[in-house]
Amino acid sequence: MEPILEIAALKKYYGKEQNLTRALDGISFQVMPGEFLVIMGSSGSGKSTLLNCIATVIAPTGGAVALHDKCITTLHGKALADYRGKEIGYLFQSFELIDNLTGRENILLPLALHGVSEGESRERLTKLADYLEVTDVLDKFPAQMSGGQKQRIAAARALILGPEIVLADEPTGALDSDTSVQIMNLLKDVAKDRLVVMVTHNPELAEQYANRIVRLRDGAI
Ligand code: ADP
Repeated sequence: MEPILEIAALKKYYGKEQNLTRALDGISFQVMPGEFLVIMGSSGSGKSTLLNCIATVIAPTGGAVALHDKCITTLHGKALADYRGKEIGYLFQSFELIDNLTGRENILLPLALHGVSEGESRERLTKLADYLEVTDVLDKFPAQMSGGQKQRIAAARALILGPEIVLADEPTGALDSDTSVQIMNLLKDVAKDRLVVMVTHNPELAEQYANRIVRLRDGAI
């Protein structure tokens, strides 16, 4: 079996000389299809830097990230925009929904940006809202939703373009424990046919849901 994601000697250094920080100091690992990967480590260990390198939000100092054997750290222009928009879905601790858009409008935003037709958008929205059980909050604004509903709307937005990878940065950090379990079960289900990479501080969630835990310490595994 070929790995979906391969991280090879990935480095990200900040600053120079005495102020040099090795946020990632040459880490390597592979992720196979169907794995639910959890990244753990104390604050400052490099977790966000790793997630952001996979998301191409920051450019590494050295090494490579490859998705299906294709190096993504050297993408430019349209190929980079397509990768970011279509291959990556992002879930945040703070949901990052747009306050003055309804649930429906938040979910449809990526489709509008990527020029998906109205009919196709409607079909995808109906299916996903049903799967995520958010049909009854589609016309509400984020301020009128519970934390769990907000995160499920955010999950719908992250999934609507059918990304290959879902990156989740402490997605349950702002949720109570029952709602956290709901979101984790959802991510586990999502991980059946795409790659989920999640950062968490919660060892219980990690042990219970991950097939694979990468523990970072000072930028190394
Ligand atoms: P974590 O997500 O595990 O808390 P980060 O990836 O945010 O860790 O940070 C790893 C290290 O890199 C820390 O020492 C942090 O201070 C440093 N770092 C992160 N971003 C920057 C930046 N933009 N400039 C300088 N140092 C940074």
